[in-house]
Amino acid sequence: MGDAAGASIERTLVLLKPDALTRGLVGRIIQRFEDALLKVVGAKMVWMDADFARQHYFDLEERLGADVYNITASFMQQAPVVALVLEGVDAIKTVRKIIGPTYPNEALPGTVRGDFAHQAKAYSIANDKVVANLVHASGNPEEAKQEVELWFRPEELFDYRTLAEKYAF
Ligand code: ADP
Repeated sequence: MGDAAGASIERTLVLLKPDALTRGLVGRIIQRFEDALLKVVGAKMVWMDADFARQHYFDLEERLGADVYNITASFMQQAPVVALVLEGVDAIKTVRKIIGPTYPNEALPGTVRGDFAHQAKAYSIANDKVVANLVHASGNPEEAKQEVELWFRPEELFDYRTLAEKYAF
């Protein structure tokens, strides 16, 4: 029955960024992940410093330039972040689908970034503004593994069964 390739239980790192905390959107954003039956297996609050921002966004300067790196690293230190590890079938893609693409003006209604922001890349570049897009989520399995290890010690991740798993997984 069907193609099972890639359909496995994964873990992914999610950060609720400073704009989510300062706007009071933590509960509403986590609700969307829970509604989709993603399981919270790790959760904590962290105030990032410059070193940790560099470790988390280790390739951002190379990919998007020093200006974007500096503006993003500074934004991530303006308030704490809520870090989550979410688990589910194809969790990495599933979470990216729920949050929508990087630039909120390209994110559809129904996604976190499309519903709670509308900022455009061009405007951010022209005005030296960060793209305040509420959430970070790992982009692929390698990134997820590396990011979960960076943010959480093994004993901070929990195994338990949800009621939904009885039927779905
Ligand atoms: P994503 O977070 O969707 O994986 P990237 O890794 O490419 O996207 O970018 C990391 C973060 O840097 C973005 O989420 C956004 O907050 C910020 N950012 C990206 N591009 C820009 C830009 N042109 N101007 C300002 N900030 C940006």
